[in-house]
Amino acid sequence: MQMKHIISFDIEDWFHPEIFSDMFSRQDWDNLESRVKKPTELILTFLSRKNIKATFFYLGWVAERFPELVEQTAAEGHEIASHGYSHQMITKLSPEAFRLDLRKSLQVLNSLSPAPVTGFRAPTFSVTKETMWSLPIMYEEGIRYDSSVFPIHHDRYGIPDAPRNPYVIYRDGDNTLMEYPMSTARIGTLNFPCAGGGYFRLYPFIFSKSLMKKCAAEGRQIVFYAHPWEFDTDLPRVKLGTLSKLRHYTGIKKFLERLDKVTDQFEFTAFREVRKDLEVMV
Ligand SMILES: [Zn+2]
Repeated sequence: MQMKHIISFDIEDWFHPEIFSDMFSRQDWDNLESRVKKPTELILTFLSRKNIKATFFYLGWVAERFPELVEQTAAEGHEIASHGYSHQMITKLSPEAFRLDLRKSLQVLNSLSPAPVTGFRAPTFSVTKETMWSLPIMYEEGIRYDSSVFPIHHDRYGIPDAPRNPYVIYRDGDNTLMEYPMSTARIGTLNFPCAGGGYFRLYPFIFSKSLMKKCAAEGRQIVFYAHPWEFDTDLPRVKLGTLSKLRHYTGIKKFLERLDKVTDQFEFTAFREVRKDLEVMV
């Protein structure tokens, strides 16, 4: 049987990414134009056309304002998971504040999702060596798998020497919290992020495809990720530094077309399905 890969979307509005955290305060968010609905619907239409089920890591803040969008996502057979409530990096939170933020997101999401929410992706991949204390908290709040570790060097996140395949990141007796790290392909001594977000937009498409192929050929499950704003061709242009501008705005027009091609080449599904297969194997 061909290996099934994972596809996931972090559902947040255009002003939520970390690069805007100094520009827009959380109090301003309700005064900004929300643009999350349309590209999320576009993603849903795309997935339905391709008959793909995905995992949607919803930001609690978005779910609270657009409950019908979460309900529609679940009704179309996708998995609802958590991206936290207020998009704060765990590195900037105390353990108590992290617990409350996660709990708040789970309260909203569990009231909208027909299945219990057990998956988490930290804002800005902020499960790092400094935030390992967050794992037992996740577990205690009902999370059973996390997909936040990026095994690379990056200025904001990453655990360069973390395992590149799924592994048990926290254990409580016989119970486990699994980590599904973001996909990388190794070239020489470096791990290259290979499936999603800015990397998928910035790399030449042929390079992205060859990294994904390498990943799959090594028997690794690809964990693809994207955000609704990466599909928004009218994304508001905000003044950013050169590097941030390049990372944030490049390749948006081509995202859907590229995703269409890679989903023809590889078979993708939600975390939920892959975890079911694992349970059957055990
Ligand atoms: Zn995010």
